[in-house]
Amino acid sequence: MLTEPITYLQRCLQIPSTNPLDGEENVATYIYELLTSHGIKTDWIEVSPKRICLVATIEAGAAAVHPKTIGFSGHLDTVPVKISEWTKDPFGGAIEDGRIYGRGASDMKSGVMAMVSTMIELNQRDDLPNRLKLLITSDEENGMTGARHLTARGDADDLDALLITEPTSGFLGYSQKGVVGVEISCVGKSAHSSSPQLGKNAIDDLYRVIREIKSDRFTMTDQRHPDLGPVVASITSITGGEGPNVIPSRAAFYMDIRTIPGFGREQVLQALEEVNQRLRQQDDTFSMKVTVIKDIPSCETERDDPFLQIVADTMEFIRQQPTKRVAIPGGTDGAMFSPAARNFPIAVASFHDFRLAHQIDESIPLSEYAETIELCMRLALHSYS
Ligand SMILES: [Zn+2]
Repeated sequence: MLTEPITYLQRCLQIPSTNPLDGEENVATYIYELLTSHGIKTDWIEVSPKRICLVATIEAGAAAVHPKTIGFSGHLDTVPVKISEWTKDPFGGAIEDGRIYGRGASDMKSGVMAMVSTMIELNQRDDLPNRLKLLITSDEENGMTGARHLTARGDADDLDALLITEPTSGFLGYSQKGVVGVEISCVGKSAHSSSPQLGKNAIDDLYRVIREIKSDRFTMTDQRHPDLGPVVASITSITGGEGPNVIPSRAAFYMDIRTIPGFGREQVLQALEEVNQRLRQQDDTFSMKVTVIKDIPSCETERDDPFLQIVADTMEFIRQQPTKRVAIPGGTDGAMFSPAARNFPIAVASFHDFRLAHQIDESIPLSEYAETIELCMRLALHSYS
């Protein structure tokens, strides 16, 4: 049974889809043709000309008693490749000693093709207990614009549960941090540096913001998540100044804030507004502007949610060892699907080894691919009531 899924995965690895923008639409075309040639209803959804999402659906059998809509999701894009560093062809899909090699082998073309293979296998049956909906996204590694677009269209509104087969090495991800990225800028007035009193130095004002944020007076929040830990904030870039002899009229820094459930964009903006107020009390000519550049919410499914329990039990059955629930430190498309109209549980899980994700000579054992296909099959065929 595994021969065809391996061929599908090899072919998928042979089509580059590194982000930013290098061929995602070609992988989308391959998967679209694969699904439709097997008679599966598939929508081609253009986010932009080179950002394509696919939504494929298989209806439950006529005799299904309590059919649920089970969602599967994965992304088409991969991180870039520095070919000179690889000892294997990153777009070869070679198999050696039971491992398959290529950019995306771990993150996450194997996850996507495990779900595609499950859909192809199950479409041949007319007794499915559930409706299956496959949401394939673009641009997960950069801005998650694909999942955001599908959610805005309402494609996730009918889901009862969602499995995202990111590489998790057999762990079950139930929560993840969010990201709020802000630019904080100060505007001054330029003047010749020989007469600074004629201008207003934006770098001086920005320095006061940084000093305040780094002082003991400031904490973004004391809230902590039991598994995700605290909110962390880092200043990651800084710009400003027009020239060596000009009083700078503008300066800005970028701050990356990793958020947790209960503390997101709104709370970040409130904490920064308090900084603004404090500095204005000291100097009423002071002003700073906060612009939100990035906003990916955190998301969380209850640890004891029944769907998560079924996923955990199924993984335990396949691996014959207990399934550990984990918080995911990075983001996944789950964050973008979670604001959908209906609140549904999201499990981030597969057997694919995450240790080689984004790495040189990315690869996974094919045995993990077989285990992930079995996980998808069993979750699709489970009777949820
Ligand atoms: Zn991924």
